[in-house]
Amino acid sequence: MSAQAPHNTLLIPGPIEFDDAVLQSMSHYAESHVAPGFVKVFGETLTLTRKLFQSTSPTAQPFIIAGSGTLGWDLVASNLIERGENALVLNTGYFGDSFGQCLETYGANVTHFTTPIGERASLEEVEQALKQKPYKLITLTHVDTSTGVLSDVKGVAQLVRRVSPETLVIVDGVCSVGSEEIAFDEWDLDAVVTASQKAIGCPPGLSIVMTSGRAIQVSKTRKTPPSSYYASIANWLPIMVNYENHKPSYFATPPTQLVHALHTTLTQITADVPGRFAQHTQVSDKVKAAVAELGLKQIASRPEAQAHGMTAMYLPEGLTPPDVLPGLLKRGVIFAAGLHKAIATKYIRFGHMGVSVTDPKRNDVDHALVALKEALAEAKQAKGL
Ligand SMILES: *Cc1c(COP(=O)(O)O)cnc(C)c1O
Repeated sequence: MSAQAPHNTLLIPGPIEFDDAVLQSMSHYAESHVAPGFVKVFGETLTLTRKLFQSTSPTAQPFIIAGSGTLGWDLVASNLIERGENALVLNTGYFGDSFGQCLETYGANVTHFTTPIGERASLEEVEQALKQKPYKLITLTHVDTSTGVLSDVKGVAQLVRRVSPETLVIVDGVCSVGSEEIAFDEWDLDAVVTASQKAIGCPPGLSIVMTSGRAIQVSKTRKTPPSSYYASIANWLPIMVNYENHKPSYFATPPTQLVHALHTTLTQITADVPGRFAQHTQVSDKVKAAVAELGLKQIASRPEAQAHGMTAMYLPEGLTPPDVLPGLLKRGVIFAAGLHKAIATKYIRFGHMGVSVTDPKRNDVDHALVALKEALAEAKQAKGL
C-alpha cells in the first residue's frame, strides 16, 4: 500500500508516479550543501549515475544540475558546438524541433532530417545525410515523447564512427533513460541528456547529463568561450569531480532534497539495470497487444521503432482527446493528450514507466487498460459511433 494521499494515477510520459521511499527522501532536514553528509550523498549519486548508464570509463563525466531536461540542451549547445558550425538533428517529432531551436539560439547551423510522422530515418538515409557536410554534432531523440518513436541509438552511433568519426553523438534521453537500454561506453556516445522526472522516477527539477571524454575535450578546446554561464561545462566540471571525490565544492547551490530523492531512486534502479529494461519491455508488449486488441493504431508504425516506456495511439475516427480523457479520469487514470501539432487532436499518450511498471502490486497498468477500454466504449456510445 502506498503511504501517499489517495490520488488519480499519473500515467503520462513524465512526470510519473513516485515510489514512497523516493518521495520520503525529500523530507530530509535542512543541511548545508557543503557539509560532509550531503557531500557524500551527492558524490554517491554521481557514481550511481555512471552505473545507470552502464559506464565504467574514467574519462566519462556525469553532471547533475538544478534545472529541467531542457537545460541539458543548453549545456550541449553552449559547450559542444560553436557559432556557425553544423548540427544534424534526426527529427522524430516535437522534441527534435525544440532541440534544433535551442542549438540555433546559440548560433549553430542546424539541418533537420525529418521523416513522416511515426517513422525514423533508416541508417542508409543517415549515412547519406552525414556525407553532405562536416557535422560537429548529430542529435537524436531516443524516445520522442510526442510520437513514441524509438530511435536506433546504437546503430546510428556505430554509423557515425564509421562515416564521420569526429562528429559528436548527442542523445536526448529525457524520455528513455531508465526505461530503454543505453550502454554509454559500449555504444561510444558523447552526451546523453536526461531529467529526473520521467523513467528515473524522481520529482522534476534535475537535469542529468552524461558526457564522454571526447565531449569534455571538445568543450576544453573551443575557439570561443562557452556561450552560457550557468550551463558552462568549465564551471561545473570541477564541482562534479570534487563531489564524487567527497570534497565540498561550490558554483551554484544544488537542490539538496532532490539529490536525496535521486540517490534513492538510482539505488533502486541500479540494483538490476538489465532487469529493469526487461520489465519495461514486457509491460510495453502487453500494453501494445491490448491497444491493438482495442483496434487502435500506434503513431510509431513499426515495432522496432516503438518505445517501451510509453504508447502513443490514434483514437478511433470521430473521437478527440476531450472525448476520452475525462472518462479515464473518472476511473482514476490520467493519460496525456496529443503533443505533435500536426495530429494533436487525433491521439492520446499512455506513459508506462517506473514504479507503475516495476511494482506489480500497484496494478497501475492493468487498471489503466481496463479504464481505457471502458472510456472508449463510453465515448463511442455518446457520439453514436
Ligand atoms: C520531457 C522531454 C524534454 C524536456 O524536458 P523538461 O524536463 O520538460 O525540460 C526533452 N526531450 C524529451 C524527449 C522529453 O520527453
